[in-house]
Amino acid sequence: MTKKILILPGDGIGQEVTSSMNEVLYYLIDEQGLDFQISERKVGGSSYDEFGKPLTEETLEIAKNSDAILFGAVGGPQWDNLEWDFRPEQALLGLRKSLGLFANLRPAFLFNELASASPLKNHIIENLDILIVRELTGGVYFGEPRGIVENETPKYGFNTMVYNEDEIRRIAKVAFEAAINRDKKLCSVEKANVLEVSKFWRSIVTEMSEEYPEVELSHQLADNTAMQLVLNPNQYDVIVSGNLFGDMLSDIAATLSGSIGMLPSASLNSSSQGMYEPCHGSAPDIAGEGIANPIAMIASLAMAFEYSLGRVDLGRRIESAIKIFISQGHRTKDISTSEEFMKTQEVAPALIRILKDENE
Ligand code: NAD
Repeated sequence: MTKKILILPGDGIGQEVTSSMNEVLYYLIDEQGLDFQISERKVGGSSYDEFGKPLTEETLEIAKNSDAILFGAVGGPQWDNLEWDFRPEQALLGLRKSLGLFANLRPAFLFNELASASPLKNHIIENLDILIVRELTGGVYFGEPRGIVENETPKYGFNTMVYNEDEIRRIAKVAFEAAINRDKKLCSVEKANVLEVSKFWRSIVTEMSEEYPEVELSHQLADNTAMQLVLNPNQYDVIVSGNLFGDMLSDIAATLSGSIGMLPSASLNSSSQGMYEPCHGSAPDIAGEGIANPIAMIASLAMAFEYSLGRVDLGRRIESAIKIFISQGHRTKDISTSEEFMKTQEVAPALIRILKDENE
């Protein structure tokens, strides 16, 4: 069956890294004779400049009908002063909400050759390979009621942290299933010592663990996890958490590996439709210089093959090509320890050479 892909390069280096990803995608389409229908549209600031909004109805409609959306990055100082609804980041929120992308998968891994780029000592960080599963469409970021009350003394602001049983079950299912395909360890993270919503979360996850006897389940308080991620990150395999704690923990985990230019992410709904994007932003400080690292974007394509395009094998081939690329000593500027580095546009051709060699 024809698979539909929507490519949204976005702004800044989003455009540069997506162009590298496209080279790998079109190489594999050609090599494998894949039946893919591909569309490309503007999003974020570049969409605002042309159409007056960061996400047009037409683009949203194509996104809804796509199996995988490959998203570069949005944002930049020229759009920072726009009103809230017109800001580039609203495109991301709009896509997540309209497509019901409730499960955010954020792998954090280290290529041991790059251990010196990590802020942690080598012996702590070596062999890092964690998957953080963050709930993305609920919790305190979306809970009602919320607001700022100005006509009382003292004035106050408030939000509601709420999770219902179905929301917890569907994200826990994603995490348990991910753990089954990895080292079969799942750590559920919340603040059950102070929050009722967390106590409830813990009880549901514990109940669900009976359906997954092969997975070793543990529970941890979020503040402890933040500390443990820095002290002993290799104790984790899969971590599952709500929106707020997952936001912070996934950023800590991403930082551990040393370069934000290496890490992909996936946001999925229950029909395996997904949006795939690098963890980094549009990096206006280096945009247009041709020095952005496109690996996170290319690794996002690998995740798309795995979770939405029904070709786990091709996802694995891309991941393995990236490992070989690093072990051969290729380095973009952000991960280079010398004055020598590869330009963005040289990365995809080198990866394609590896893909070709490995296929022979
Ligand atoms: P950023 O991730 O864009 O950049 C942080 C630092 O990392 C910068 O020094 C940048 O040069 C470097 N960097 C990032 N990606 C890199 C890559 N692939 N290769 C080499 N170096 C890389 O974060 P920021 O500076 O806080 O934000 C810049 C803009 O991006 C803002 O407008 C922000 O709102 C937006 N943003 C967008 C997303 C998204 O689209 N998902 C995510 C985060 C930030």
